[in-house]
Amino acid sequence: MADAPFFQAISITKTYPGATASGVKNISLDIEQSKITAIIGSSGSGKSTLLKLLYGLMSPDEGVVNFRGERIWGPEEKLIPGHDSMKMVTQHTDDLNLFANVWDNVAAMLPSTNVKLKEEKTEQVLTQLNMMQLVKQRVADLSGGEKQRVAIARAIITRPEVLLLDEPFNQVDTSFREGLQHDIRQIVKETGLTVVMVSHDPAEVLSMADELIVIKDGGIVESGHPKSLYKNPLNLYTAELLSNCNILNTEEAKVCGMQTAKEYIVVYPEWIRISKVLATNSWTVKQVLFKGFYEDLILENQGVLLRVVNDESEKYTEGDLIGIRIKKWLEY
Ligand code: ADP
Ligand code: MG
Repeated sequence: MADAPFFQAISITKTYPGATASGVKNISLDIEQSKITAIIGSSGSGKSTLLKLLYGLMSPDEGVVNFRGERIWGPEEKLIPGHDSMKMVTQHTDDLNLFANVWDNVAAMLPSTNVKLKEEKTEQVLTQLNMMQLVKQRVADLSGGEKQRVAIARAIITRPEVLLLDEPFNQVDTSFREGLQHDIRQIVKETGLTVVMVSHDPAEVLSMADELIVIKDGGIVESGHPKSLYKNPLNLYTAELLSNCNILNTEEAKVCGMQTAKEYIVVYPEWIRISKVLATNSWTVKQVLFKGFYEDLILENQGVLLRVVNDESEKYTEGDLIGIRIKKWLEY
């Protein structure tokens, strides 16, 4: 089937027994080859369920998942659950051999029929994931982030076509996380690997994804390029997931000098200008939250709180009176 879509879910539904609102409902999606597709949603929105359905760890009650034009087999049809051309990595790195070293953990995924090839491939993958300096270390002695790298190396050394990631960076410290995210992007670029990842972390999906799908209560609410979803989310839910935004009801909006016929106004912290010299200095600095090279200020006026980004660190202190100007907002 030359023209079959690469990887596709058509109207899949999976409800867990006993639970009324659970699992996923009527989801259709297309996953593009050699791209990173990220699925974001709040906790319990159905992300893990969706990933298991895509991989074949579960069968949908209705609908079908196709990979290269063929239906994915569920666990009742297949001896070893999970599609052979795919690998899945979750936060649980249970299948690592803690007492073997990094090299052996990764090399063990390949057959020993060609020892030279096995060595070459192991070195290649460990290099791609920046782990050559760790090869002799026992996995038990590694940090959470390093263990996660071993799990990913084990997953990709067999050259799957699709790598499925279920919040794999949750336990990884921020500094480590960015390196790992970059390395995965690089592998996608170099090898044409297709990645489907689920996460509830906006920083992760915004920096990694080529395509972003937002799910809520088991259904897709919107999808698109991360940048356009961030700038112009169709739903309040999406704005809340992607930004640490200010959500104001009509009364609160009035305090900020805005009128709306809708229910809510959303203002991202970076859309607010602040100044001590504006004529209307009616906002009090309640808190200064140090963020490294910038600060978040929490401002208060008539009981309304606003989070504002301030890139002139240390200019304001708690108790200061300042003025604001809102450059952009969204209405819902
Ligand atoms: P997420 O990964 O987005 O947190 P899940 O896919 O794990 O969400 O779960 C989606 C919904 O289905 C949740 O309401 C969850 O409680 C429910 N659920 C998940 N697994 C089961 C299960 N095995 N039995 C019953 N309900 C489940
Ligand atoms: Mg989950």
